[in-house]
Formats: sequence, structure tokens, C-alpha cells
Amino acid sequence: MPDSAMPQHLPDTPARASTTWHILGAGSMGALWATRLARAGLPVKLILRNPDRLSAYNAAQGLTLVEGEHAQTWAISAQTPDTNEPIQRLLVACKAYDAEQAVAQIAGRLAPGAELILLQNGLGSQQAVAALVPQAHCIFASSTEGAFREDDWRVVFAGLGHTWLGDTDQGQAPQWLEELQRSGIAHEWSPNILSRLWRKLALNCAINPLTVLYDCRNGGLQAHGEEVNTLCTELGALLEHCGQADAAVDLAAEVNRVILATANNFSSMHQDASQGRRTEISYLLGYACEAARSRQLAVPHLQHMHQRLTQYLKQHGLPCD
Ligand code: NAP
Repeated sequence: MPDSAMPQHLPDTPARASTTWHILGAGSMGALWATRLARAGLPVKLILRNPDRLSAYNAAQGLTLVEGEHAQTWAISAQTPDTNEPIQRLLVACKAYDAEQAVAQIAGRLAPGAELILLQNGLGSQQAVAALVPQAHCIFASSTEGAFREDDWRVVFAGLGHTWLGDTDQGQAPQWLEELQRSGIAHEWSPNILSRLWRKLALNCAINPLTVLYDCRNGGLQAHGEEVNTLCTELGALLEHCGQADAAVDLAAEVNRVILATANNFSSMHQDASQGRRTEISYLLGYACEAARSRQLAVPHLQHMHQRLTQYLKQHGLPCD
């Protein structure tokens, strides 16, 4: 596939004064957001782990977004966490297990009233980040967009989707959502983002671990319908115990619909485990089991599955947290 030959260099000063989007983590989601914001002419800066990653990025001369047959490189400026520059708006695009430590590295740079947008899947990491930076306004996001890293600094936009954003104190939709509109990032302000995150967590717990244990595509779970439905019953009870009754409505029906609609796909957890990458188990099934334990709710099938999955990850030399 031909890449556009020259990286697109971006103006140092945007045409109209606009808050800089600092993006913490330039993996799949970080690159997907950064390149689209930059393409819309918005000021974007990447924050990379350390000087080695910064050198590697500079050698690549930018971030490449691949959309279908088209690939375009954007020379977005990048820095390390210890750069001395205040941050007003930060997109946290690390994995759930990295988010807290990554935010701790830049916490001292947050300007008064800074906003953090947390893209992590599952639950638990968002609360940990919010507790770490109580002076900042944390916005939780739940996205159905799909992207993967074809190589370092080169990301494929693999699935159109939608992103819901919201906070836990019924805040108003921020004005900068208009910038997402301009960037072509399909989104909506959600008055109950926790309900959305819980629902997604429950769908994830009912499908992803079983696809790892049975080593199958999502559609393979049609052969394990009874097990899936038993998990849905426990997950529904858990949601109700956690004050998330809305997220429990017709859960089993939706899980079965998703299994059919995505029959040919490998779940994200299956992809992680089969490619030897750490999974986000602690923020999905682990979080569900811990929420049940702390409420003294018996969820024997979820717990058993957590044990089986932990065992599986250990046997394959992968972290089980
Ligand atoms: P990813 O491709 O692995 O990217 C994570 C990035 O975070 C990596 O580039 C990593 O740096 C960086 N990072 C980790 N610690 C850092 C630190 N201390 N400082 C700076 N950067 C740091 O992960 P992803 O797929 O984008 O997923 C991010 C989150 O979005 C996950 O919770 C995932 O579940 C969720 N999500 C993903 C998708 C998707 O399709 N990918 C869809 C919906 C939701 P290195 O490059 O140096 O390792």
C-alpha cells in the first residue's frame, strides 16, 4: 500500500487558539485520536514513555494512520513525561494496567482545572487515576472503535465505532466536544457513563474469557450457550447489587446477539493471550469478582472462570493481573 510520501508537518501555532491535546501513550487508540485531531488542525502533543521511545518515534518521523488503502503520516510533536510544560487537557490512552503509573509521571504538570479523558476498557483504572489526581476533572470514555498496531508508530483503523464520554458528577458536556466533531470522532456525551462501562464490562466478562479458554472465535461460544447464559445470570445479579440495574436489562439477549454478530472475530482478550500480550483481566473479570466479594454476593461460576483463566495465563507465561 503506498504511503503518502512526505509526513504532514503541522503548524507550530494553530490558526485559532485552542487547548493543546496532550496524548499519553501513542499505541492504537492514542494514535487513532492523535492523527485525527491533528488532521483537523488541532494542536496535539504526544507523551511517550522515555527518551528511547522518543528517539524511536523521531526516527520514524511521525505517526501513521492506515485507513483502508490509504496511509498518511503526521509529524506530531512528542515529548517525555518529564518535560516542563503544563498540561490542560490529557487523553490517557494507555492500557488499564499502565494508566495509574503513567498519570503519576505527569501529575505534577497538570494545570489547575485540567481535564483527563480516560479511554481504558473495564473498570478500576479510572477510579485509581481519579483518586491520584483529585484536583483534575476526569472524564470516562467507552469506545467501540477498533484499531491495532501494525508496527510501532503505525496504526490501522480497523473498525468504525462510537465513543461515549461522561463524568461521575452529572457534569455538562464540555464545549470541546465540538473538536471531536471536527475531527470526525463519532461521539456522544453520556449522562450515565458508569452504566455504559458496567454494561460493556458484563458483555466482556460473558464472552472474552470463554473465547480464551475454548480457544475459539466469538461464534464458537454458540456451542457453549448454557455456560454463557449461566454467566449472564450471575453478571445480571452483580449489576443489580452494584446499583446498575439498567445495565442488567436483557443482558443475556445482548450477549447472544453480540456472539452472532461478531461470530468471525477473535475477542480482544483472545488476541492478547494468543499473541503473548498481557491482558486486562484485572479490570474486567477480576474487577467483577472483587465487586461481588466486597458485596458478599455469591458468583461461583464467575469465580471459577476467573480461576481457570488465571491458571491458563500462568501456564502460558503471561501475567495474571
Ligand atoms: P496499546 O496499543 O497497547 O497502546 C498503549 C500505549 O500506552 C503504548 O503505546 C504504550 O507505550 C503506552 N504507554 C504505557 N505506559 C506508558 C507511560 N508510562 N508513558 C507513556 N506511554 C505509555 O493499547 P490500546 O489498544 O491503544 O488500548 C488502550 C486502551 O483502550 C485499553 O484499555 C483498551 O482496552 C482500550 N480500547 C482499545 C481499543 C482498540 O481497538 N485498540 C478499542 C476500545 C478500547 P509503548 O508503545 O512504549 O509500549
